[in-house]
Amino acid sequence: MPECLFCAIADETVPATQVLATDRVLAFCDIDPQAPTHVLVIPREHHPDVAALAAANAGLLHEVITQAHHVAVAEGLGEEGYRVVFNTGPQAGQTVPHVHAHVLGGRALTWPPG
Ligand code: AMP
Ligand code: ZN
Repeated sequence: MPECLFCAIADETVPATQVLATDRVLAFCDIDPQAPTHVLVIPREHHPDVAALAAANAGLLHEVITQAHHVAVAEGLGEEGYRVVFNTGPQAGQTVPHVHAHVLGGRALTWPPG
């Protein structure tokens, strides 16, 4: 099994509730949802954070964002809106060092975030 949790989810050695899968990107439900819709979108390829992904493979970052939007629309959030968050580094609360977009929606989301 890969040492990285999200690499293990990507290769299905750790189970997850998948909501969308392409050859390069996977979306699955967050195990501890913070909103009625809380989906994580990851590239299958390992990159530690969004800046590293942007530097290494901008096309793959584009696909992550595109699929995040597809998830939101499929969840019925296309009109009312949703939030995409990349926590980056410890002060922002990043706990899994494999880049992931949080797609959050289905309730009014406060701003500024905590
Ligand atoms: P972050 O804190 O931004 O790194 O986000 C990591 C997210 O991964 C958190 O929202 C966790 O609830 C979520 N998470 C941790 N383990 C799992 C898992 N096995 N399946 C799905 N989501 C997970
Ligand atoms: Zn990984």
